[in-house]
Amino acid sequence: MNVATPTTVELTSRFARELPELAAPWQAEPAPGARLLVLNEPLAAELGIDLGFLRSDDGVKLLTGNRLPAAAAPVAQAYAGHQFGTYSPRLGDGRALLLGELVDARGGLRDLHLKGSGPTPFARGGDGFAAVGPMLREYLISEAMHALGIPTTRSLAVVATGRMVRREMMLPGAVLARVASSHLRVGSFQYAAATGDVPLLRRLVAHAIERHYPDLTDAENPPLALLQAVIGAQASLIAQWMLVGFVHGVMNTDNMTISGETIDYGPCAFMDDFDPRAVYSSIDIGGRYAFGSQPLVAEWNLVRFAEALLPALDDDSDRAVALAQECLGGFRRQYSTAWSAGMVTKLGLREIRDDAVTSALIADLVDLLQANRVDYTSLFRRLSGAARDRSGSGEEIPPAFDSWMQRWTALAPDLDAMDAANPAYIPRNHLVEEALGAATEGDLEPFERLVGVVREPYASRPGLERYAQPAPEDFGRYRTFCGT
Ligand code: AMP
Ligand code: MG
Repeated sequence: MNVATPTTVELTSRFARELPELAAPWQAEPAPGARLLVLNEPLAAELGIDLGFLRSDDGVKLLTGNRLPAAAAPVAQAYAGHQFGTYSPRLGDGRALLLGELVDARGGLRDLHLKGSGPTPFARGGDGFAAVGPMLREYLISEAMHALGIPTTRSLAVVATGRMVRREMMLPGAVLARVASSHLRVGSFQYAAATGDVPLLRRLVAHAIERHYPDLTDAENPPLALLQAVIGAQASLIAQWMLVGFVHGVMNTDNMTISGETIDYGPCAFMDDFDPRAVYSSIDIGGRYAFGSQPLVAEWNLVRFAEALLPALDDDSDRAVALAQECLGGFRRQYSTAWSAGMVTKLGLREIRDDAVTSALIADLVDLLQANRVDYTSLFRRLSGAARDRSGSGEEIPPAFDSWMQRWTALAPDLDAMDAANPAYIPRNHLVEEALGAATEGDLEPFERLVGVVREPYASRPGLERYAQPAPEDFGRYRTFCGT
């Protein structure tokens, strides 16, 4: 049988059609020397897109927005947002395009979106482009997050454009093809609310519910039901970040999704030594988005979301505020429940029912982590290792943990369950820098290898010891950059 290779993908333009007020029709810049750098084969399979096609000339042109299916209607999305607490009424996709939605192999609707595809009407003086290094970084870290089971946007491909982009120095340009269950953000609702067009806000609510929370379609008060759902999704997401030591770095309201997926891998990093004050972003001078502040910042962002929804929550503004406040009041409990449950799992204590004992054990562990500045990720693998090997041949736990260890091991933790819940491999900062440095010099091998390592985070493999180890002393203080 002769099966023809598909020559394109089917894209719908539901967002652009249903919410034209939030969509500026736009085209990608040509990519004169487009060259595929990485292609996410498992994701392409999930999306039901043919690999041969994606690797072909037409496929690479699709991945840079330069040859689209006839029906496609690419748009730059409008959104507002609080950036470091300051409101900007008009942000939007300054260097990105929504190509459209596609139906994945399981029937779900996913956005196909480009980042670095050229300046749009929202560029605000920016060049609209992106450099190879930061796009590979997003690819790597979003894959790691996905492998850790944390909701996230995904990266389908990074294509070098052949264009140089001006940063502190001239750098090779790239376009990232990003896949998300949608790109609706808190900032999308802030933008819609600011127009004063309440029917538009209601249409946005309906669109979000249909895409992310279809069970709520018949809710008595859809905006309230959506608020509740997003609070729940974000409480769960942030708890997962905190459990793996992920520092997002730029939790502006335009970078918080309605779906509960992690988005916008700019200055993010995984924490090395445990420190609630850990900040990696060079522009986060005040530490607003420090590791330990993330739950409170998420709550602050959700208050902004609720404010945007107010006109749709109830015609009576006092009643609308009361409804919103009641909902928001649930965030801390939902976050704490999710985080505590995650910690119980990380400590192999899932079967333990005594809440008071486990709560005290967890609180004391956090104090010990903080006082002793231990490498957060490896500690949990070292704990299970040390508990297996009481003779103490290898796993080093600081002596300060001795009495805590006794209390913990007395609860008979399930050590195998622990190893299935605590990653051995994360994209450690020094490894990320090493891989991106080589990639920038044209050697993608270390990058591909690191992607392969973090795609299977829980199974320790011989030969990969260096990927599980903390950064060498001389790596120094790590800094990341935004808007790259
Ligand atoms: P981010 O920090 O990536 O969430 O971006 C914040 C805003 O700046 C968004 O509106 C982006 O589209 C915009 N932006 C970031 N970098 C550029 C760039 N190089 N050119 C145009 N707009 C940009
Ligand atoms: Mg953003």
